[in-house]
Amino acid sequence: MNKKLNCLTNYIFIFKKGFNFSQDGPGNRLVYHLQGCNFKCKWCTNPESMAFPGENSIKYQVGELVDEAVKCRPMFFEGGGVTLTGGEPTYQFENVLCLLKALKKEKINTAIETNGSHKHLFKLIPYIDNLIMDFKHFDEDTHILYTGHSLKQTKENLKMLSEQKIKVLIRTPVISGINADPYGFANYFSALDCKSFSFELLPYHEFGKAKWREKYEIQNGFITKETLDKFKEVYANCGLNVINT
Ligand code: SF4
Repeated sequence: MNKKLNCLTNYIFIFKKGFNFSQDGPGNRLVYHLQGCNFKCKWCTNPESMAFPGENSIKYQVGELVDEAVKCRPMFFEGGGVTLTGGEPTYQFENVLCLLKALKKEKINTAIETNGSHKHLFKLIPYIDNLIMDFKHFDEDTHILYTGHSLKQTKENLKMLSEQKIKVLIRTPVISGINADPYGFANYFSALDCKSFSFELLPYHEFGKAKWREKYEIQNGFITKETLDKFKEVYANCGLNVINT
């Protein structure tokens, strides 16, 4: 175990972990799904991850996770490494910072998928190789309505990342009746310097619906190919780099 950080005995709560190829960062990755989220997105695929510490999460010492990652190093082929997702990984901010520092000391590639709302997100940046940030809506009131949380800090963080030219993959789930307005997004991003950003548009799906049971509120959220193509066209016309997935 890495002895230099005194936070290695702190705990991180995880509800799922496993390997995943090239979905949340490059190559073959050990993906930790962290428990707890400050958002309550109505379409969330993992609603069981919102509460903290939740009913089914397992707590691991930071050092245990580092040891596990080091043992898995031969599996990190094609540029792989460790991805922290959720839930919302910054919900356990201090211990995530500790884990990222320790992984970087071991020269392990790191990725994080975040809703971008933590006010100290900038502290994590030096220890993240692949920053994936969700951006769900451009309008404050609508964002609060569908996620239960303000958009202000996420926008401040995007501005900071843009000014510092940090490489970010920005992910948007495109949902009919909620945010399928490419011009609203394009207007917002056009006001930023987006040269270091790339964009991933994720058509709505209902993978989490069965977990919500009767509480699932989204209806008719699926988008057409035409809508997705329109997003790509509008983004391209604004000079935004959309990646195909
Ligand atoms: S931010 Fe992600 S984990 Fe949190 S509620 Fe929204 S979709 Fe779920």
